Formats: sequence, C-alpha cells, structure tokens
Amino acid sequence: MKSSSIRTYAGITFGVCGFIGLIVWGEYSSWQSQVTRIEASLTQTARALVQHADDTIEMAKLPLAGTITEIHDEEMHPDMPSKLRKAMKQQIETTPWLDRLSYVDARGDVVATSGDIDTGDLNLADRDYFKFHQSSVTLEPVLGGPIKSRFSREWIFTVSQRVNRQDGSFAGLVIVSIATGQFTHFFENFDVGKDGSFLMVQGEGIILARSPFREDLLGTDISSHDLFANRLKQARSGAYHYISPVDGARRIGGFYQSPRTGIVVLAAASESEALANWTKVARIRWTSGVVVVTITGILFWRWRRQVMLRAASEALLVTREAEFRLLAEGSSDLIQRFNGNGIREYISPSAREIYGLDAEALMGTSILDGLHEDDRETVVQVMERLRTGAARERMVVRRTRADGKQIWLDTTLNRLPGGVNGADVRIVAVSRDVTHQKKIQDELDTLANTDELTQLANRRSLNSHGEEMMLAARKLNGRLSALMLDADHFKLFNDTYGHAAGDECLRAIARVIAGSIRRGKDLAARYGGEEFAVLLPDTDAAGAFRAAENIRRRIAGLRLRHERNLPWGHVTISVGVATFDPAGSELTRIADLFEQADQALYQAKNAGRNRSAAAERVVTADGAASAGKSA
Ligand code: GH3
Ligand code: MG
Ligand code: MG
Repeated sequence: MKSSSIRTYAGITFGVCGFIGLIVWGEYSSWQSQVTRIEASLTQTARALVQHADDTIEMAKLPLAGTITEIHDEEMHPDMPSKLRKAMKQQIETTPWLDRLSYVDARGDVVATSGDIDTGDLNLADRDYFKFHQSSVTLEPVLGGPIKSRFSREWIFTVSQRVNRQDGSFAGLVIVSIATGQFTHFFENFDVGKDGSFLMVQGEGIILARSPFREDLLGTDISSHDLFANRLKQARSGAYHYISPVDGARRIGGFYQSPRTGIVVLAAASESEALANWTKVARIRWTSGVVVVTITGILFWRWRRQVMLRAASEALLVTREAEFRLLAEGSSDLIQRFNGNGIREYISPSAREIYGLDAEALMGTSILDGLHEDDRETVVQVMERLRTGAARERMVVRRTRADGKQIWLDTTLNRLPGGVNGADVRIVAVSRDVTHQKKIQDELDTLANTDELTQLANRRSLNSHGEEMMLAARKLNGRLSALMLDADHFKLFNDTYGHAAGDECLRAIARVIAGSIRRGKDLAARYGGEEFAVLLPDTDAAGAFRAAENIRRRIAGLRLRHERNLPWGHVTISVGVATFDPAGSELTRIADLFEQADQALYQAKNAGRNRSAAAERVVTADGAASAGKSA
C-alpha cells in the first residue's frame, strides 16, 4: 500500500474514532446527568423521610416527659397506676402516630399502659432498652428497636426514658412505641417506581422499617455494609449505588442521616426502571445513529469500491493502450482505431508511408476523408454493418494520398468487444497498400478479357457483361440489342492476300466497330475468327439496325481491296441484329440473344451478303429493305 493511502486510511480511522468518541462521550454525559438528577431526587426524598422520622421521634419525647412528671406527682398515691393509665390514654389519643405509652417499674413489670389490655404479670426486664436504662444513668430519651410488640404483636420501635426516684435510684422507664407500619405507609406517598425501595435504619445499622414490607429484614444488622462501614463515615448524605441483595438488580440510591437522631433513610430506585425513559429515547437515538452510520458506511464503501474499480480499469486501459500501440507501431501495416462515427482515435506511424501524412495530422479526421467518390457508399455501408452487430468486415477501396496519388487499400475492420449501437463502439482497422497488386490484378483482368489481335473485349468478357446487361434490362424493363458481324468471303481474302494481311484487315474492321459505338455502356467484342459482336443496352430494334447499318457502311467505306468479294471488290461485312424486349420475350440467357442475332446474320449472308438483317427484315446492299426472313 502506498504511504498516501495509508495516510488517508489513518485520517479516516482517526476521524471516525473521534466522531464515535464524541458521540459516546455525549451519551455518557447525558446518562450521567440523568443519573445525577435521579440521585439528587432520591437523596431529597431520603432527607424528607428522615425529617419525618425525626419529627415523629421528637413528638414522642413530649408524652414521655409528661408521663414522668405524672409518675413523680402520683408516686405515693395508691391509685397511681389507674390515674397514670388514664393520662397515658389521653396522651396517645391526641398523638395518633404514636402506638402505645407504657410505664415499667424497676423490676421490669408493666405498671401502666395506654392500651386496653391486661398487663397482668407482663415483665419487660429482658428487653434491651430496659437493660440499657437500668445500667445507664442518662435521663435522655433513647431510640430502640425494632421489636415485635408483646402487646400488639406488631413490629414497633421504641423511644424510652429512664425514671429516677428522688434519690436518683432507678425507678423504671417510660416507653413510647411507634409502629414501623406507619413509616411503611408513609413511604408509599413517595414514588420510586415499582422496583424501588425504602430502608430506614438506626444509626448503628439496625433496620427499623422497609418498604415494600419485609418482615425478615426488620431488626437486621447491616452495620457492616458498605453504606455504614464506609459511605456514612464520609458524608451524611449522598448517592449510593449497589446491587440489591434481595433481587440482584442494580439500584440507584440516595441516603440521608439525621444529625439529630442518627436515623438513616435510603431511598432506592431500580436503575433500569429509573433510566427507562432515558434509555428508550437513547435507544431511538442509537438506532437512528447506527442506521445513519451504516448507510453512510455502505455508501462510502460502495463509492470507494467504485473509485478503486475505476482506477483499476483505467490502469488496465492504459496497459492495453500501451500494448496496442506497441503492436501497432511495430507493424508496417496501417493500424487505425475509429469510434462508432468513423472518427480516427488512433493511427499508427505507418500513416507517413501510406498516406504521406504524419499520424498527428490525421487524428480526429473521418474514415470518409480522402476516399474515392465511388467507394464512399461501400465504406458507409461497412461502418453501418459494424455498428449494428457485424464483428468483422473487409473492403478494398481507393484513397488519395497527400501527394495526390491514388492508392488502393485492403482493409480489415474489427469491432472491439463491447458496445453495439452505443457510443462505445470502437473499430480497429488494419490496412495494407495493395495499389501494386491491384495494378497487376487489373492488368491480368484486362488481359483475360481482351482479344489480343483486335484489342476488343474477348468472348469471355462479352458473355459475362452480356449476362449483366440482360439482368439490368429485365430489372429496368429496357431493351438490349445484339449485333453479330461477319466478314464476307474472308476465307478468300486469306487465300488471296495471306493470313497476315487477313489479321491486319480484322484489326481495321475492329477499329471501325470500336469507333462506331458511342455510348459508354455499349460493348464491342471479337466473337471468334472474323466474327464480331456488339451489345447495345437501352437500344430498340430500329436503333440497333441503324447502328448495324452504320458499321456495315463504314467498313465498306474503307474500300479495303478484296478482289474476290464480288460484286464489290472490297471488304464488306454482313450483320445480324436481335433485340431483347423483357416485356414480350422468352429469352433467358445472353447466348439465346446471340443465337437469334446469328440466325439473322445467316439470313443476311443468304440474301447476298454486305447487308444487315433483323429477325423481321433484311436490308439489301444498296439500302432498300425487304420485309420477311426469307427475303
Ligand atoms: P462468308 O462468311 O461470307 O460466308 O465466307 P467466309 O469465307 O468468311 O466463310 P467462313 O466464315 O466460313 O470463313 C472464315 C474464315 O476466316 C476462315 C479463316 O480463313 C478466316 N479467319 C478466321 N479467323 C481468322 C483470323 O484470326 N485471321 C485471319 N487472317 N483469318 C481468319
Ligand atoms: Mg465466319
Ligand atoms: Mg465470313
């Protein structure tokens, strides 16, 4: 990998990581602030609950103080217990949040209680609070519990205070009990979610109340727990995260410890529940984020792939082009590449030799430039076939070189694989200069088609051209006439003047025939021996007859000596004329037309020679026509 692309990748990776980092950081902050809000709210709740507990305990101290005064006042009175009970009852009725008020003497026996039950021989000497006050001289109210009430069987906790005699000795204690259920109910006013919980704990770590209610937890010592062992030692209030020992779920808690009573309340919510809303919104954010990132990633990946593919194919193209040039430039043939419109995109250096022009000068020019006018249509059609699906074409066409000379090029054109009909059509043409071969070929053709003695067309040429003329006449519904010309008594000429003179005479006749046909498409040929033929396209019977007579007269007009050709004494010919009319003829081949002309010639000979004859008429030597074949 190149160092530049390493840098690009490193840059992209850094960017993506940075971007993801920012998002993660943003999400974390959002989560953190949500957690902080929840912590603050829970801590606030804990504080409110502690406040309530403190107030309740504070309120409990008043009836205690009142009862102690009452005890001291009625100490000597025999009705003290009943009087006390009455006062206690009144007291409790005015403070409904208190459960019960009791007085226990120095032995632990219940002297009086606010409830309507028989205290009988109930002894509370075994209770911790009793033992505490028995041994402690403090006259302050003390918080204790929780315990299960021996009166009501309810879970309660107590606030108790020592009662002293005049001499300061232990005279028992007064106890006010508060039902833990009351707190449990009170907690229900605060919403911490269905998985949330409250815990109210004495300063030493003994659980006083819990919501939702769990009897087994009441009185449990959790002083060794992290909250008590560590956190509360550092701060009176704060947030506390823990895994619930009850259900194993993660909890967010807020705790607060009363500076007055030491009571601690921990208000806790299930982390998943408390953050459910945030998580829901965040999940939508994350999902859309992931979708956006994925789509962006896919688009980026596809774009990148396309770029790479394009680069690879461009590199391949460059290689191909180089290979192509190497091949093309090492060849003496002219190698060119055209687009679908026949515009040159490449031309090999042999252009210099073949066209007489530098390759650069020809770039961007058309395949039709410099083309011989007659070959234009050929090239247009070849290109059209290549464009519409043909894979390979070949043509031999003429072009004009820069120096004005005409050359023949034999060209093979190949359509490159790829586009058909589209803009992608590319054609590679390999051309070879065949001017020299063409010239030899033309010479050979001429030789093969020319009569050596007279230089007229030979019979082979006559036949092939004749067939073409028949076809054309049929196609265009034109007339085609044929003349058969034969020297009169030529055997006698040879016999008299010799064969060489005969040849010379035949040449003279040929010159007259050649000179008498005026139209470009007319064709004069030596048919064989001293017989000649002329084909006259687009010529009717009358016209052909005139042409025949014209030739006959001109040959006679030469006045070439031929003593034994009597009565004229000079060279004459006889002519047979036949005309092909596609509308009313059954002729199929040119040979048939010659056959007809030959029969007319036979008639002309029979009629006395030095005359022309058509199927219908014979013309006498002096020009007077007589109708009919038999004339
Ligand atoms: P007619 O046609 O009037 O009936 O008499 P003819 O003497 O011309 O008869 P025919 O056509 O049978 O004779 C053809 C003669 O033409 C035979 C031959 O001596 C002569 N001949 C044919 N070919 C050549 C040729 O190439 N050179 C010369 N010098 N004579 C030829
Ligand atoms: Mg003859
Ligand atoms: Mg003859």
